[in-house]
Amino acid sequence: MIDDLPPLREVVARHGLDARKSLGQNFLFDLNLTGRIARAAGPLEDVTVVEVGPGPGGLTRALLAGGAARVIAVERDSRCAPALAEIAERYPGRLTVIEGDALELDPAELVRVHGAGGPARICANLPYNVATALLVKWLEAEPWPSVFDRYVLMFQREVAERIVATPAQRADYGRLGVLCGWRTRARILFDVSPAAFTPPPKVVSSVVELTPNPEPPPCDRQALSKVAQAAFGQRRKMLRQSLKGLGVKPELLLASAGIVETLRAEEVDVAGFVALARALRELTVRPD
Ligand code: SAM
Repeated sequence: MIDDLPPLREVVARHGLDARKSLGQNFLFDLNLTGRIARAAGPLEDVTVVEVGPGPGGLTRALLAGGAARVIAVERDSRCAPALAEIAERYPGRLTVIEGDALELDPAELVRVHGAGGPARICANLPYNVATALLVKWLEAEPWPSVFDRYVLMFQREVAERIVATPAQRADYGRLGVLCGWRTRARILFDVSPAAFTPPPKVVSSVVELTPNPEPPPCDRQALSKVAQAAFGQRRKMLRQSLKGLGVKPELLLASAGIVETLRAEEVDVAGFVALARALRELTVRPD
């Protein structure tokens, strides 16, 4: 027992929260597991945690019981509101529930408006259908680093592998690995079996920790995204071929970046992509 609130299965039954696939709803009822995820984000004293998709509130309760000064929970499904209101009542002044689509909200702005003033983190069992889009949005935030000093997030294992991938894991390495490697240090903390969720998803999940890199090598994030998209869009081809279509001669771009033109995307590390993004910027920005 982490608190004196009713068991989650009872909460879900009482409020009729049958899981909806369209909302990526796979709930966690095991308080040991939600406690483990919350501890991965801790220690939480003085910390404001943004949680996306609290659902019936299993992880929310673990974060609050774990000492979070404030939890700002963004939930799209209005059916969850009564269950979350019960948690807010149990932890007066510490839980703010925002009903809305996390893709349309700026979590840093939520912290500015509702935060407790100390450090801020994002911790969530993400809805799988929008998990990658949310991560990309958060990591492309400007200015960098943003207010968050850690992100502890559950993804499908396959996405987690792409997040932490480097050229050493060729098949998994792609645009996501470049973005995560540029702005953060990412690692997989532990796996979670499908049996831990209700309903169980088809695949294994992983909890990932991303720690912002306070000084990522400077480059324009849009240029980085463009070169990575072009290169990995045709990952089997050599860069002198796949980088056609960026508005500059690939040979010139590659020479300026100091990258061998016969390499393929998956052989270029994050520093190489940063060099390509800088070269693209330099070669395409024309004086007025
Ligand atoms: N945190 C709960 C748990 O661990 O049991 C639920 C996690 S469930 C995987 C994902 C949650 O995200 C659901 O409650 C779902 O309604 C919510 N959700 C789905 N899409 C969302 C969105 N775009 N913005 C905010 N919440 C969303």
